Amino acid sequence: MPDVFAAFDAHVRAREREYVDELSALVRLPTVSAQGSAIAETAAAVLGRAQRAGFVATAERVSGGPPTIIGEQGSGDRTLLIYDHYDVQPPDPLEEWRTPPFEPTIRDGSLFGRGTSDNKGNLMARLQAVEAYKATVGPLPLRLRILFEGEEEIGSEHLAELVRVHADRLRADGCIWEAGYKDAAGRPTVSLGLKGICYVDLEVRGTALDAHSSVGGIVPNAAWRLVWALASLKDESGTIIVDGLMDHVRVPSAADLALLRALPFDEAGWKRIHGIDGFVGGATGLELKRKYFLEPTCTICGLRSGYQGQGSKTVLPAVASAKVDFRLVPDLTPELVRSLLRAHLDSRGFTDVAITPHHGERPSRWPSDTDVAKAAVAANRATYGTEPVVYPLMAGSGPMAQVCDQLGIPAVGFGSGNAGSANHAPNENIVIADYIDHIRAFGRFLHAFAGRPM
Ligand SMILES: [Zn+2]
Repeated sequence: MPDVFAAFDAHVRAREREYVDELSALVRLPTVSAQGSAIAETAAAVLGRAQRAGFVATAERVSGGPPTIIGEQGSGDRTLLIYDHYDVQPPDPLEEWRTPPFEPTIRDGSLFGRGTSDNKGNLMARLQAVEAYKATVGPLPLRLRILFEGEEEIGSEHLAELVRVHADRLRADGCIWEAGYKDAAGRPTVSLGLKGICYVDLEVRGTALDAHSSVGGIVPNAAWRLVWALASLKDESGTIIVDGLMDHVRVPSAADLALLRALPFDEAGWKRIHGIDGFVGGATGLELKRKYFLEPTCTICGLRSGYQGQGSKTVLPAVASAKVDFRLVPDLTPELVRSLLRAHLDSRGFTDVAITPHHGERPSRWPSDTDVAKAAVAANRATYGTEPVVYPLMAGSGPMAQVCDQLGIPAVGFGSGNAGSANHAPNENIVIADYIDHIRAFGRFLHAFAGRPM
């Protein structure tokens, strides 16, 4: 059978320079959503680029949120939704960048700049792939829809509402999510969902003011109250013991365990990177992978109380606070975790521990046998000539549930990043060859999801 993608690949490879220049122009816009910078400008650029790629698209806003690009083209039995975001994280600390974050630079075959990996690279690569497909393979064999938002990096506050209002323009049979990475061994990866998150501040206010520590035997201490409350959340083997929380963790299916068994996990490499002798609770092998991918976390992210300066100060602190995050797996939700946490603390007499909710995001997880997952695996296999690594769930979080669970669209993720892409960090980058490969993989993915033979 002739390779229908030979002309597609040649077309894409011949345009490497042009493609990277186009991405660089987008990266040059400092679209930092946390600072509200260049949002309108970038939205207009992305809208124009999507229209040039053939999408009938508009910029939509709800409740004062940033512009979100929604569009459509093509026809067929199947509809694929492409989700990406055009905003980026702040570039700080600036002094750690080898070249300025918004002056994209090529070094040793990689393109450096804020947003190259997360997520302007995938956004642009996919538009280029759609054009290349139409130019070489033929008319699109399916309907494509796009959803490009501008506040993913600050919590996607308006996304759920936007999806509700524009549901009819977004419904699809499958969704390709923003990101994906080659792993540390250079293998392509495909992911089937994201963990959720529930981030809270816990605070205890004890005495009216800080007191002399000589009263420590008779006057309650906010720091001790907080430490005891925290100690009730997790035992020393690393098990989360918040009342009832683990009852909401879905038991892994046989298919889940099969995925985990097939998943490479470099335990020695992890220990080296983190400078540790062993994992929590002595976990190893399948148990370690199950904990990492399919169980929730409860992490003290920060602790503050009393005197932190040089030398000693004999003080009994009036206030103590902790920042705690829970990474969530189905069927936990941020609302459920907050109410379980409140009930757990209250039942132990910790009614003085105040909970202030921060960021919350539901988990979103999809089976490995959906058509969109099968198309992603087939496309990666055909592109890279090797079996991709399939993650049942990414350990990070994102607004997937607001789109895919709300509309019932099975999701999958793969992209142009690599294990050293430094998302959210200085010197963010993608390997240019990976970028070109993502365009190649994406063309094949459209084809496979439309049911066309490769
Ligand atoms: Zn990000």
